[in-house]
Amino acid sequence: MLAKRLEKLHPYVPGEQPKDRDYIKLNANENPYPPHPAVAEAIKGAVDRRTEKLGLYPDPDANVLRTSIADMLNSTGGVFCTSKISGEKCEPSEKDKIPFTVTPDMIFCGNGSDEVLSFVFYTFFDSDRPLVMPEFTYSFYPVYCGYYGIPMDAIPLKSDWTLDKEKMLSSANKNNSSIIFANPNAPTGLSLTRDEVAEMIRKAPRDRIFVVDEAYCDFGGESCIPLLKDFDNLVIVRTFSKSLSFAGMRLGYVVSSPDLIKAIFTVKNSFNHFPVDFITQTAGAASCKEAWYYAENAKKIADERDSFTEFLRQRGWFVIDSRTNFVFTKKDGLSGDAIYQAVKKSGILIRHFATPGIEDFVRITIGTHDQMEQLKKTLESL
Ligand code: PMP
Repeated sequence: MLAKRLEKLHPYVPGEQPKDRDYIKLNANENPYPPHPAVAEAIKGAVDRRTEKLGLYPDPDANVLRTSIADMLNSTGGVFCTSKISGEKCEPSEKDKIPFTVTPDMIFCGNGSDEVLSFVFYTFFDSDRPLVMPEFTYSFYPVYCGYYGIPMDAIPLKSDWTLDKEKMLSSANKNNSSIIFANPNAPTGLSLTRDEVAEMIRKAPRDRIFVVDEAYCDFGGESCIPLLKDFDNLVIVRTFSKSLSFAGMRLGYVVSSPDLIKAIFTVKNSFNHFPVDFITQTAGAASCKEAWYYAENAKKIADERDSFTEFLRQRGWFVIDSRTNFVFTKKDGLSGDAIYQAVKKSGILIRHFATPGIEDFVRITIGTHDQMEQLKKTLESL
């Protein structure tokens, strides 16, 4: 009775959602800080004062939200961590200034960046050629390849866990393929500079789409948004889930040229006209106005990450340099699963992947200072 295509589906496995006890959750790269109070106020206001809106379909194009996102990007350069905060305002750092104004017609919003990625896969990747990606990257990409019947060309990382840019490019050029990766990458946490990505796009097929997933960019990466000035085949995917403390609301977006955004709208309107509900549009727009608060949090998380990395290294752990809100780490003599189990016993959840090649590692989301101090005590006792 089931459709044949189900055989190609291998669903994504998210970080554990505990039900049995109150764990400290450092396993899904969520933000340990709550949304700014103005976000809850906006939601309350929407429910209390505009109750009739709950009975009406939301704006299918999320125009107010897209304008707010564009404003936020222009004021932060797309990197919270490096943006300059003065009072309740942000300004991009010199190196992150976007050399044009991001406009709402360059933004597409969806129900989390997972859904946005699904639209991107459907809009741009065909089944007649493989999609090039790193072997270890966000594990939803292979899931969508199965979902849409897109062949995959997974290129192993180099021995230092960096992307093998040369192999990715030669493979993409051989088959005239599109390329996708997360920058910073997950689960490694390593980041390419904007110049390195620009060089890749220059050498990749120019008539194919080049996708950069910037889910973690706000914690210390370099955004590729400035490159949209030079490349009309570049598609950037971003999320509110990490740096904007919004994982429970579901909001992701694309930044690209107005023409490519139009194409994604065509796909969205052929699938679900209203992927972003009224409350999420309202709360999302309110979040963008408090970029300074999220920028402060991103800086705190980045500082905590760097001191946690130092802590681990001093105790003989191997830690990959992270530009994200997590670290990917392992310790000789301890299996990834054993670390995960021991930490879980102490009431803290971290992530372990049983995938061959990275099975020794654990991925640890950076929490508040107190949460990290508690975790450190557990790790000292291993
Ligand atoms: N991209 C990357 C690289 C991620 O790690 C995640 C989070 N699992 C996502 C996209 C999806 O995030 P969300 O759907 O919450 O926006």
